[in-house]
Amino acid sequence: MTITAIIVAAGRGHRAGGGVPKQYRPLKGRPVLTHTLAVFRTHPRVDHCLVVIHPDDTTLAKKAAGDTKLVHGGQTRAASVAAGLGNVPEGTTKVLIHDAARPCVPIDVVDRVIGSLDRSSAAAPGLKLSDALWDVEDGQIRAVRDRASVRRAQTPQGFDLMAIRAAYQSATGQEADDVEVALNHGINVAMVDGDARNIKITTPEDFERARRIMEAPLDVRTGTGFDVHRLIEGSGVTLCGVDLSHDRKLSGHSDADVAMHAITDAIFGALADGDIGQHFPPSDPQWKGAASSIFLKHAVNLASDRGFTISNLDCTIICETPKIGPHAQAMRASLAAITGLEEARISVKATTSERLGFTGRSEGIAAQASATLVRA
Ligand code: MG
Repeated sequence: MTITAIIVAAGRGHRAGGGVPKQYRPLKGRPVLTHTLAVFRTHPRVDHCLVVIHPDDTTLAKKAAGDTKLVHGGQTRAASVAAGLGNVPEGTTKVLIHDAARPCVPIDVVDRVIGSLDRSSAAAPGLKLSDALWDVEDGQIRAVRDRASVRRAQTPQGFDLMAIRAAYQSATGQEADDVEVALNHGINVAMVDGDARNIKITTPEDFERARRIMEAPLDVRTGTGFDVHRLIEGSGVTLCGVDLSHDRKLSGHSDADVAMHAITDAIFGALADGDIGQHFPPSDPQWKGAASSIFLKHAVNLASDRGFTISNLDCTIICETPKIGPHAQAMRASLAAITGLEEARISVKATTSERLGFTGRSEGIAAQASATLVRA
């Protein structure tokens, strides 16, 4: 698919103060629009960008947007989006519509919207509410709303170009955002997780918040894991979730997937949160014969609950036999399916120990792994 990002920058932004519209005011020395545009211009899956501007802002926009295509918007946001939709480069099949005033949008959010567009005709990021919601009347709290099914809407909102163009034909201009235009036209919109950092600059104070978000240091953690399981009489071993035929089997309480255990421990290590044995005690009968994917999934979820993204996983399996090389790709695919990571971020390799030691004598299989976690 060919993706064009439409950055909507035609608003006047008076609430943010400061004379010029907020999208042209400086944030860390560059116009807000320049920061916003940089996220999409550098995104590997975004093919084209265009910016919808107010005709009065042409000089400011040229300075802020460099050689990015500019399109004149209309009187309302809906008219501006429609102008953008009418001017996307030929070949565009999907569009991401994004507010210029959201310069801190994390790349992950853009990734998630695009990932969802691979499977659906529309997708948008939503954020859970941490505060309770009230119905208020005449200064009195009348009721507490259920917030479980409520989300705060963010952008970019992504659509099939043809579908959203058709939806805009019947837009009234009163819609809150592009998702409402789509819903009114009967388009199903998938929700992906938004991000608290994806703030919309509205007030003068928001410039300071945005600066703090941009300057927050990256928290990068690495962890290592090591595991050994004994080879005993039996047949077949499971490594990284892939069943291999073998003339012996691995002994262990769970499925004895030594490689997946090392990877799981590497993630726990990066989180400084104990090890697989503490999270899943071997003394607990419920883990007898358990698929190790349960353990790995738990570690991945723990990392994401704490705001970390797994940047990469690297695993080395140490054994004489079975030969790992022919199955390494299947193992990467298996780990990708369990963790939700791209295969390009997962490495599985193997070595022998030159017939030395317990692995050399095929008494057991060892595995070591490292994991790098990033919290932006
Ligand atoms: Mg183990």
